[in-house]
Amino acid sequence: MTQISTEANALPRRASENLARANAPLEKVALESYVALAQPSLIGLSRAELTDKLAGIGVPPAQRKMRVQQLWHWMYVRGVQDFDAMTTISKEMRAELARHFTVARPEVVAEQISNDGTRKWLLRLPSGLAGEKAHEVECVYIPETDRGTLCVSSQVGCTLNCSFCHTGTQRLVRNLTAGEIVGQIMVARDRLGDWVSSGSAPQGESARRLVSNIVMMGMGEPLYNFDAVRDALLIVADGDGIGISKRRITLSTSGVVPNIARTGAEIGVSLAISLHAVRDELRDELVPLNRKYPIAELLQACRDYPGASNARRITFEYVMLKGVNDSLDDAKLLVKLLKGIPAKINLIPFNPWPGSVYECSDWEQIEKFSEYVFNAGYSSPVRTPRGRDILAACGQLKSETEKLSARERQALRAMAMTD
Ligand code: SAH
Ligand code: SF4
Repeated sequence: MTQISTEANALPRRASENLARANAPLEKVALESYVALAQPSLIGLSRAELTDKLAGIGVPPAQRKMRVQQLWHWMYVRGVQDFDAMTTISKEMRAELARHFTVARPEVVAEQISNDGTRKWLLRLPSGLAGEKAHEVECVYIPETDRGTLCVSSQVGCTLNCSFCHTGTQRLVRNLTAGEIVGQIMVARDRLGDWVSSGSAPQGESARRLVSNIVMMGMGEPLYNFDAVRDALLIVADGDGIGISKRRITLSTSGVVPNIARTGAEIGVSLAISLHAVRDELRDELVPLNRKYPIAELLQACRDYPGASNARRITFEYVMLKGVNDSLDDAKLLVKLLKGIPAKINLIPFNPWPGSVYECSDWEQIEKFSEYVFNAGYSSPVRTPRGRDILAACGQLKSETEKLSARERQALRAMAMTD
């Protein structure tokens, strides 16, 4: 699946459609419909929040710290799904916990396994409103020889309308809670049998686990759900629990400039920027958020990003769109723009979807572009599309909540499978 599609996705790029896109509203409004369940899950709570919960059910102050430590270990190292399995906690305490709480994760409604080993899970989340359909979100696991990367979603849908992204066309948008974000990692470890069992290697050795890396590159714009994403990632990076180090976590943003500095200060993970264009006029069309935070402001935020160094470069994602942003002039301007920023450039072959008005650049053009950037001193890997047959590749995620017709689905699969 390393090739890029040619014929089947060679839809004409209609100027009128692009114009309509360019005039589309910059953002949609996110729903605020999440209502906490009567018996909430403890997944996704910070240690301080867990302490408060224990206080709320009458655990004496002197016991709280120890209980939190125990819960943390059972939930995030051992991955147990039931209080009854927490054998270091007294029976009475376990029963009391089970009366008030769960350790439930999002419900898996479908699992698909690609012929390249990529797995995609469709997860159902409560909508919180009586009568309203449950919300759904997707999460993708990509195994490689030296690592296993989990692509995690931050929102149901996305409020932004990038013109080449399928998720952006989804109407329904709501922010995920921290528990639903951490829950995606829990689900992946459950399904892969990736928890530490008694007697096996100690926690914190993320490199030895199947899920060793996290990318916030699923559905949604993580920096439009900042607090929940921050709280979730701090739990994921906690060395006494899931223990995936911040170096192995990458947050991708379309450029929410004010929250880039906050990401550095409050989360401290690696940063990826969805750049995709080197001129404001074109970026305004591809990534409409550019109208609010233009390229110069975005790159200044990158220059100021704490911890950016040659050892820890910022990734610039650049989707290759035929005849749109893939000329050598674009490559030259890209190199010029990034001067002084410790950067690597990730070229992403465009993944088509029904109704998309772009084509993927020709392979030779991608190679030429990559070579120019490489010769200018930047690492410029071309991202191999993974899981195209199960519609798990970048930008193809769109939950079942907005069902595609059978015909659209068939067309999409055909496009995605065409080499
Ligand atoms: N909202 C965030 C993270 C999710 S998108 C962001 O935009 O950065 C993850 C990556 O997939 C982004 O770089 C996005 O631009 C890219 N992407 C979206 N649609 C795509 C498509 N159809 N083909 C290839 N890449 C796409
Ligand atoms: Fe949202 Fe990212 Fe898709 Fe843009 S590319 S619509 S920001 S998910």
